[in-house]
Amino acid sequence: MPTALITGASRGIGEATAKLFAKAGWDLLLIARTERSLDSLAAELVQSGITVRYKSLDLSDSASIKPGVQELLAQDLCPSVLINNAGVAWTGELLSMPLEEWQWLLQMNLTSVFQMCAVVVPHMREKGGLVINVSSHAANNAFPQWAGYCVTKSALSTFTKCLAVEERKNSIRACTLTLGSVNTTLWDADSVQSNFDRNSMLSAGQAASALLYLAEQPSSQIIEDITLMPAHGAF
Ligand code: NAP
Repeated sequence: MPTALITGASRGIGEATAKLFAKAGWDLLLIARTERSLDSLAAELVQSGITVRYKSLDLSDSASIKPGVQELLAQDLCPSVLINNAGVAWTGELLSMPLEEWQWLLQMNLTSVFQMCAVVVPHMREKGGLVINVSSHAANNAFPQWAGYCVTKSALSTFTKCLAVEERKNSIRACTLTLGSVNTTLWDADSVQSNFDRNSMLSAGQAASALLYLAEQPSSQIIEDITLMPAHGAF
């Protein structure tokens, strides 16, 4: 069975993705902070007859990533697909952004992805693999109050292209899923102020379907990006 490693799997897009991949017969490695959510999700997913391993890990703590992921990979599953989905948002004026919030956003949305790839990709090189980074249409726009988020997702898209070019020789492919707004718990975070209409957003299941589509592409081809937007527009 193919295996996917999904970060941010405890809720939102990551949880929906884990459920969809399990239904499609994928074995799963799951990462998020909330152990009890991972535990109950894993218990539900194994009902599909797949194998699930999980690790509670705080991706905002750079020092914990390498040992934590190595511990997860030392178990019995080796991923052929890595989905860097965990991410956070912060709204507010760019130059009023506290430095700690700026560094947290960069760590979560960019540096942790670099760190995940640095640990996981070497394990995938022998058989080939795919890295899917979950980006946002904020990557291609300058939205007032969302500057920090725009910067991190823009850098994530460039990171993905650089990774793809460098790792091509090792049979590793890399792509982005670029999403418009999705109705998840991201919009309930203390760091996000918005009054967008949640009903006109994409569902987490729609994002999950796009991730499964990317993951199931034959290894002889790569869809470099899917941009998935709600039919009603950006917000
Ligand atoms: P969400 O509902 O807030 O879920 C975020 C996930 O990331 C959770 O599983 C959370 O689990 C995990 N996470 C948060 N902080 C973490 C940390 N410090 N360490 C480890 N895991 C952490 O968000 P979502 O909407 O599903 O977002 C998933 C991805 O889609 C993000 O990269 C986001 O930028 C992107 N995206 C979202 C939208 C949207 O409108 N929702 C649009 C475009 C792109 P724990 O709390 O258990 O750690």
